[in-house]
Amino acid sequence: MFQRFFLSFSHFTCRLAQRSATAAAGRLVSAVRLVGLTALALCLHPTAQAQTQTVNLYTTREPGLMQPLLDAFTAQTGIKVAAVFLKDGLLERVKAEGANSPADVLMVVDIGNLLDLSEAKLFQNINSDVLNATIPAPLRSGDGTWFAFSLRDRVLYADKSLALESFRYEDLASPAYKGKVCIRSGQHPYNNALIASMIAHRGLEQTEQWLRGIKTNLARKAAGGDRDVARDILGGICDLGLANAYYAGQMKTAATGTEARKWGDAIKVIRPTFAQTGGTFVNISGAGVAAHAPNKAGAIAFLEYLTSEPAQNLYARLNFEYPVRSGVALDPTVESFGFLTADLTPLTEIAKHRKEASLLVDRLGFDR
Ligand code: FE
Repeated sequence: MFQRFFLSFSHFTCRLAQRSATAAAGRLVSAVRLVGLTALALCLHPTAQAQTQTVNLYTTREPGLMQPLLDAFTAQTGIKVAAVFLKDGLLERVKAEGANSPADVLMVVDIGNLLDLSEAKLFQNINSDVLNATIPAPLRSGDGTWFAFSLRDRVLYADKSLALESFRYEDLASPAYKGKVCIRSGQHPYNNALIASMIAHRGLEQTEQWLRGIKTNLARKAAGGDRDVARDILGGICDLGLANAYYAGQMKTAATGTEARKWGDAIKVIRPTFAQTGGTFVNISGAGVAAHAPNKAGAIAFLEYLTSEPAQNLYARLNFEYPVRSGVALDPTVESFGFLTADLTPLTEIAKHRKEASLLVDRLGFDR
């Protein structure tokens, strides 16, 4: 069944980096291919009204990534962006502000957060030819409420000396790795989405066995952040663990001599796959226009800008993420991680299992 799913979505082939025919010789060739989609030229046409106003952005994304994007947008369009950077509580804030909310654009990471905003009716439906043409259908809502602007794969960080060439997410529960695994909280949205994905693929019972196996294999409490997996591999606490690929990109390109660089240099990145689909788990970052946006035209112009080639380049270069726009180059370090075949199970299907995943983590005492 999942194979069929896979095939039915073959128009959206998320082969973001493809091993070439010379792969045997070890050369990796990157190609961003969204097969069957026409990469349309991007035309920005903000209205005169939007140009004179400011776009208010609420986001949980890091200022370090966002500010260059905002500056580039302003330079191109003349529209200023006032950003409110929130660690958390974005949904609660917009809800509390109600119809008086000054927010024009709401931007978050993780499909779960996008769906929470959508289900709380905090987005409005927009119809943009630019967004619809540039963002593949599986990466935006059917009703025009939210859109993905970058992809983020959850990968294996492994001690460089481990003789590992490939890995399946299922392998993390193998007795071979008893006492060797580091991972952050099972309740963190990154792991919640992965566990939900496993439930979508194998059902609750098998996912429970899998998670029990991983808990047995933990070298330390499931806590901390993704970078801590690399830190603890360097520290000899564990041999391997799961984390998002972009952190490896950040660490491996950090200044020589810094802690981050040492952690990055200690690991190799392997893209695990689900045994059943042969795909790697990919989540998204995304945004939508706020339900009560005072500057709707400016908000749409901003979202359209985010799909432009320069903006998609910034996503790739500054945050080591995968562009959603066809034909935009990956960061060379991320490219060096090799072949990515994204699991094509729709994120909205996976997200239906978020609650079960969270309850399972609690029931097993995964984080204790
Ligand atoms: Fe992150």
